[in-house]
Amino acid sequence: MDFKSIIRDIPDFPQQGIIFRDITPLLAHRDGLTAIIQDFKTKFAELNIGEIDCIVGIESRGFILGAALAMSLGCSFVPVRKPKKLPSAVFRVEYSLEYGTDTLEMHQDAIAAGERVIIIDDVIATGGTAAATAKLIQQAGAELIGYGFLIELDFLNGRKALPEVPIVSLVNY
Ligand code: AMP
Repeated sequence: MDFKSIIRDIPDFPQQGIIFRDITPLLAHRDGLTAIIQDFKTKFAELNIGEIDCIVGIESRGFILGAALAMSLGCSFVPVRKPKKLPSAVFRVEYSLEYGTDTLEMHQDAIAAGERVIIIDDVIATGGTAAATAKLIQQAGAELIGYGFLIELDFLNGRKALPEVPIVSLVNY
């Protein structure tokens, strides 16, 4: 499936100068989610990445893709959320943005030490969000074995911010 032709480009959203890559038309396509998950599975299989215990999805579009992938793989799904959303004890990481900082949280009991984890999100831009999520996996004592992104914005070189594990991206700009 030609994902790029279905993903919608919205100029100047949410702010001037950003081209927002809107994946909702692809999710709305009857074969879209199936094709995305199949592509992720093929590419991770090609990397011989081994047993996957857990998919960690980043709020909020990472929940949609991550949960579907976890279901298809038959492994667990764990949400990484914006602050003050998760009700039980959390690991917390603060990371810097262009202006100010942001925080992500994950339940402390969500992943057991030693579990083999893949992080999923819709877009990698600067890589800050995905790099911060890796720190939560580390706090849990789990093993990060890869990243999966539907979209990679190559010109921002976000993968340089990430730990040295395999990165799968399905669409590049
Ligand atoms: P970053 O931390 O810079 O890699 O930003 C990644 C997060 O911001 C992801 O969760 C994306 O959902 C969102 N994001 C960043 N840039 C875009 C974009 N151009 N279009 C859609 N989402 C974006």
